[in-house]
Amino acid sequence: CGIFGASGVDGAAALVALGLHALQHRGQEAAGITSFDGDHFHTHRAMGLVGETFSQQNEEAIRALPGSVACGHVRYATTGETALRNVQPLFAELSEGGFAIAHNGNISNALRLRQELVRTGSIFQSTSDTETIIHLTARSNYDQLLYKFIDALKRVEGAYSLVCVTREGMIACRDPLGIRPLVLGRRGDAVIVASETVALDVAGAEFIREIEPGELIVVKGTEIESHRPFPPRAPRPCIFEYVYFSRPDSRAVSAGRSVYAVRKAIGAQLAMEAPVEADIVIPVPDSGTPAAIGYAQESGIPFELGIIRSHYMGRTFIQPTDEIRHEGVRLKHNANRDIVAGKRIVLIDDSIVRGTTSHKIVQMMRDAGATEVHMRIASPPTKNPCFYGVDTPEKAKLLAANKSLEQMTDHIKADSLAFISMDGLYKALGEAARGEEPSHCDACFSGEYPTTLTDQRDRETAD
Ligand code: 5GP
Ligand code: SF4
Ligand code: MG
Repeated sequence: CGIFGASGVDGAAALVALGLHALQHRGQEAAGITSFDGDHFHTHRAMGLVGETFSQQNEEAIRALPGSVACGHVRYATTGETALRNVQPLFAELSEGGFAIAHNGNISNALRLRQELVRTGSIFQSTSDTETIIHLTARSNYDQLLYKFIDALKRVEGAYSLVCVTREGMIACRDPLGIRPLVLGRRGDAVIVASETVALDVAGAEFIREIEPGELIVVKGTEIESHRPFPPRAPRPCIFEYVYFSRPDSRAVSAGRSVYAVRKAIGAQLAMEAPVEADIVIPVPDSGTPAAIGYAQESGIPFELGIIRSHYMGRTFIQPTDEIRHEGVRLKHNANRDIVAGKRIVLIDDSIVRGTTSHKIVQMMRDAGATEVHMRIASPPTKNPCFYGVDTPEKAKLLAANKSLEQMTDHIKADSLAFISMDGLYKALGEAARGEEPSHCDACFSGEYPTTLTDQRDRETAD
């Protein structure tokens, strides 16, 4: 998901809409904005893309969200079904007044907390993990909203970057490990928070710094007050943000460079670790493109766009018959035949999850006349699900969790297959190697989850 907040600026909701546009890649399922005008809260949430809900043609939607403070969300479902009641910001009337919350991440003890809350009288309006934070806040014994909210967060485990709007202003915070990103910016005096710096660029704001792991800021108008409610811990930001999730023009704050530069460095490292004799390097667009540029530059093998991607193939596209869908990837990707025919190619993608994409694309390259297809992957094998807000399927469906390298190579029918090593990935981030206490969360590759996984443990004992 993606989150964005603006405070201390007239028409804050219009800025939030711009920011959400820039964060669209983080969630295409639904979008919403809540504003506060000094007296009343206003919310508009809808299924679909930001541009459909908050477009120029739909000025009404923005005009109906007056106020100088607002927060918004783009959704990509990881828990809770796809329904309007789960679309954020979630809103509740607490004893201190209205409270709107937008969340990126996933709470890994949400089910356990929900069971306890429901048993003792809470009535949930959604199936979203985020709603547990609202109930815990409402029930806290502290006497100010801020301290109630902090009290609630102390009971929550997992990943959360949050932006909230209350009668007092805006609150933004990041979980103690900083698993999901959150950055701070200013547009003139106005205070902006966003999942990625690209949203600051698009909203005309200047990047100030990241919200630090475990930091909570209270914004009243244009004033920022920083709190440190949690005991200090070594941060573990998600490494997969740099591999796949973030937009390449965002800043990879913990690496001190752009995400694009990190991806190119990953590609260069991959070329050193897994060289191959070939005629051209081809990315699986768009996710494999920066790594392929790095691979091509490091290896000296020419880079070509041997696959063209349709930018009109959304996730919400209604699939035709099964038969047509099976040939399906051509809706999204098509071979650039003249480039591919008669060539030995290196194909670069960011990751293999189920193996569907690689399998289809290798075949597509062969159909287009490639003589050899060597697949190179810009991340280590994805062997474990993410419980922190990235939608990886259960372990049984992860190709690398169930097959050896040789079996995977057979499965996707490539001439060869290689993944970047774990140390290589950290080298691309500018570190010597992974280290005993890694600087990032890499659990989907390593299996070392940086938090307890209460709900997952409960599920396993129930099985
Ligand atoms: P597979 O086809 O192996 O299941 O998935 C690999 C492809 O999915 C890669 O091209 C990669 O860019 C993309 N991918 C990796 N992680 C995610 C994710 O969390 N969400 C979505 N929508 N795509 C992903
Ligand atoms: Fe990121 Fe993977 Fe950790 Fe999930 S498990 S937060 S995707 S590194
Ligand atoms: Mg992809």
